[in-house]
Amino acid sequence: MKILSINLKNFRNYASLNVEFNSIINIIYGNNAQGKTNLLEAIYYMAFGFTYRTRSEEELIKFGATDFSTDINFSNKFYKNKIIIKKYLKNGKYKKELTFNNNVLKAKEHYGLLNVVLFSPDDLQIVKGEPGLRRKFINLEIAQTDKYYYNLLVKYNKTMLQRNKFLKDSKEKINIDFTQLLVWDSELAKIAAEIIIIRLETLKRISEISADVYNKLTLSKENLNLSYILKTSDGETSKISSKTQKEWEEWYLKEFKMRRNLDVIRCSTSIGPHRDDILINVDDNNLRAFGSQGQQRSAALALKLAELEFIKEVKEEYPVLLLDDVMSELDSGRRKQLLTFIDGKVQTFITVNDKELVKYLPDSKYFYVENGNMYEE
Ligand code: ATP
Ligand code: MG
Repeated sequence: MKILSINLKNFRNYASLNVEFNSIINIIYGNNAQGKTNLLEAIYYMAFGFTYRTRSEEELIKFGATDFSTDINFSNKFYKNKIIIKKYLKNGKYKKELTFNNNVLKAKEHYGLLNVVLFSPDDLQIVKGEPGLRRKFINLEIAQTDKYYYNLLVKYNKTMLQRNKFLKDSKEKINIDFTQLLVWDSELAKIAAEIIIIRLETLKRISEISADVYNKLTLSKENLNLSYILKTSDGETSKISSKTQKEWEEWYLKEFKMRRNLDVIRCSTSIGPHRDDILINVDDNNLRAFGSQGQQRSAALALKLAELEFIKEVKEEYPVLLLDDVMSELDSGRRKQLLTFIDGKVQTFITVNDKELVKYLPDSKYFYVENGNMYEE
């Protein structure tokens, strides 16, 4: 995929921006707080319909304004496309309007039309941080290429909330209606089974790709390896035997039952894909606990580049790559490996303070950003 042009009005610190991109590598450089990350955020927002920087979309509106609009032209292997998102005030309430090639879209229809992979320094947390970040990584990755999975996640969360509400309402009662609870359990077990089957299959592939990318990036013989950690009623396990949909459903039903009393006390669901994790190892060492800073950084980058390759496999074309502020974090060897990796095949947006860090790349263009204005060099 290739972004051809972007139009922003009142988005973050851009009052008005109109820019065309006709190179593979686009280097966005400038001092701190000028709008480099804001531009990548705008691309991300147009791809996903939400931003990774805040939960409150109103923050995207330029200070002092009451609305914004973003507009992107991009090509995939078939067509040229246009996505427009507008956010504005109507009768004192914020409205959001989304169109794809002039047709109005729902949020769930929008997701996955423009594929983007973002790598920023925060992504180190995929390796170092809480399990929720690794779940988010795998969820977003699959959902970008698989609408069915996206809908499963929505259904799963909705069903779990209903189950939790039932647990909460039951807590006050003397006799809990276990037949009704079983209805929620069966519903949730069915969706959980579908989710875990897709996750296990995808993780296997991502693990293979990221191991390969890790070797290329680090020029090492170390083996990066990802494995799924399944939450169970007596702890967790990475020894997961392969099961059919039916067998997984039965497994979840059994586990929900084992945890029933605890779940009633806590008014929450303690087993399920929303509690699982991914173990990231280099050789036999858990990187989260024992990795060096450099190993963790390379692994995070390898995971993101594996995401890029995975999307390419499924969609048969590369997504757009956004590299926010990662050049200064990598040593020169890894920087070179990274640029060799993306060379020529992936449209990439790179933000840097110092443009010397990414000098003389083929098919590249430089954009200087100052106070919400962009100047093409
Ligand atoms: P760095 O090199 O430090 O990462 P940057 O160029 O990536 O800098 P951005 O994060 O893109 O910086 O932009 C930050 C600037 O945008 C800040 O000055 C901030 O005040 C401004 N900003 C953020 N949100 C808004 C908004 N809603 N309206 C106007 N300005 C905003
Ligand atoms: Mg920035």
